[in-house]
Amino acid sequence: MKKGQINVQTENIFPIIKKFLYSDHEIFLRELVSNAVDATQKLRVLSSSGEFKGELGDLKVEVILDKDARTLTIRDNGVGMTADEIDKYINQIAFSGAEEFVQQYKGKEGAEQIIGHFGLGFYSAFMVAERVQIQTLSRHEGSQSVQWESNGNPEFTIEEIEKKDRGTDIVLYIAEDSLEFLEESRIRGILDKYCKFLPIPVVFGKETIKQDDPSGEKDEEGNPKKIDVEQERQINNTAPAWTKSPSELTDEDYKSFYHELYPMTFEEPLFHIHLNVDYPFNLTGILFFPKIKENVEVQRNKIQLYSNQVFITDSVENIVPDFLTLLHGVIDSPDIPLNVSRSYLQADSNVKKISAHITKKVADKLREMFNKDRKDFESKWNDLKVFVEYGILSEDKFAEKAEKFVLLNSTEGGFYTVEEYKEKIKASQTDKNDKVVILYTNDKDGQYSFVKSAKERGYDVLEMNSPLTPHFISKLEQTDTDISFARVDSDSLDRLIQKEEELPSKLTKEQEEAIKPVFEEAVDKVKFTVQFQSMSEKDAPIIITQPEFIRRMMEQQKLGGAGFMGAFPE
Ligand code: ADP
Ligand code: MG
Repeated sequence: MKKGQINVQTENIFPIIKKFLYSDHEIFLRELVSNAVDATQKLRVLSSSGEFKGELGDLKVEVILDKDARTLTIRDNGVGMTADEIDKYINQIAFSGAEEFVQQYKGKEGAEQIIGHFGLGFYSAFMVAERVQIQTLSRHEGSQSVQWESNGNPEFTIEEIEKKDRGTDIVLYIAEDSLEFLEESRIRGILDKYCKFLPIPVVFGKETIKQDDPSGEKDEEGNPKKIDVEQERQINNTAPAWTKSPSELTDEDYKSFYHELYPMTFEEPLFHIHLNVDYPFNLTGILFFPKIKENVEVQRNKIQLYSNQVFITDSVENIVPDFLTLLHGVIDSPDIPLNVSRSYLQADSNVKKISAHITKKVADKLREMFNKDRKDFESKWNDLKVFVEYGILSEDKFAEKAEKFVLLNSTEGGFYTVEEYKEKIKASQTDKNDKVVILYTNDKDGQYSFVKSAKERGYDVLEMNSPLTPHFISKLEQTDTDISFARVDSDSLDRLIQKEEELPSKLTKEQEEAIKPVFEEAVDKVKFTVQFQSMSEKDAPIIITQPEFIRRMMEQQKLGGAGFMGAFPE
């Protein structure tokens, strides 16, 4: 038997990394800034463990654009690298210095905040650069600063240089086909997207702020005179709300964080859930419940997924259960793998556990609100019900819990749980088969006369008009076989127990016989029934009803095969 080692030819693997590692080229900046943040975080850990004795200074990351030189530089004042470290961490593809560091400093404060993982991120620089330089001075006292350079061939050179400040500059010579990355607005956009909440200040470009005039001069009103001062523009908030403990935060803090996340949204969220788990996986985050109005296009997919404060994606569909994509907010978990494909994420067992956990938290929160202040819960119900109905339809685990707080809204104004409502109406609305028949309208104005005659017979009518109503009704009937729903204009009214005798008619028999064929001519006799009634003076003498099952069949056809998802246009 012969044993051997598979040999990786860098010439072959390099183009693959460059082309296929990330589908999105802009990711290179996220990777390089994350490395720079890691370099500063490592220095913090080393300093607090006593291994690094020098001055930390103001740890920060700078992104510098030089259009004339066609370079983009990512600068940090972190740990830096010696020539040996470059050999180990850079010249060996897929050897992760970050991973090694985390292993070595496990349990030390800050070590778990290191972002890097796979040892591939650095090479994403070659997706946009034709030449890359690393200029670096290590934290070790008396180190020689060095420059590594490569055009991705994959040869590299390494030489001694003069660099006075501790830390690393990654200099990208932007390639001809990637000149967009020399545009200030493009870089700013990428930084805003991926780096907005990184834990170390990231600065790019300048901004002008107003400051008190140092001369002490006053304006006409006696206030200190203001002057314009140019300063570095910091693009990130290093301590976003979700990284804090809920006890530190007020309702106002949550609201202002909401607007920080969605600067273009003016609507206030209904309420929030602060997630904080450290076992069996790590997860923090804040979920906001937006007001979801009926028949108004719902803004889905606004949840932002982060890993250690680095933005990964805001399309969480197939990662969290579908109904949760109606929520807004942030989920941050270092256990969600960065850098990997969507299909991998879906299959990832951590991601599945996280989904189940969030579903449970959301249900628990609603239950808690319902129990704590029912009036308040009822007042929010109209903005919540589409979400709850959607959850009941799509997740059995959620449905089990939601049974206790899902509300039915009577046209008389009251809110009832399904159990309460059954109790309320069962004496008067039970049919021959002992089913409690729940009457509802999905169009109070259009079905006005039907609602009225049902009420006059002593029945209660619910208002149910969400886009999910038909599916929600089927689901309730499946879960509780003692109930059945009938729309108020169906022919079920005269099958309820109270009404044993025919309704008295306003018309004489002769009149009825003369009129009936005229109406039956006008409507489809198989689908509709012409009925005469005279409950009161104001009542219509003739109503046209439809068997509930036929109406549902027609509704089904109209909805096509889309199921309840069809109710939410993208
Ligand atoms: P990862 O971050 O997953 O470890 P990368 O390919 O992004 O992999 O980086 C490889 C290694 O190179 C890092 O782990 C780190 O040791 C080193 N490195 C990269 N950028 C810097 C930097 N700015 N300062 C210090 N070390 C760096
Ligand atoms: Mg990295």
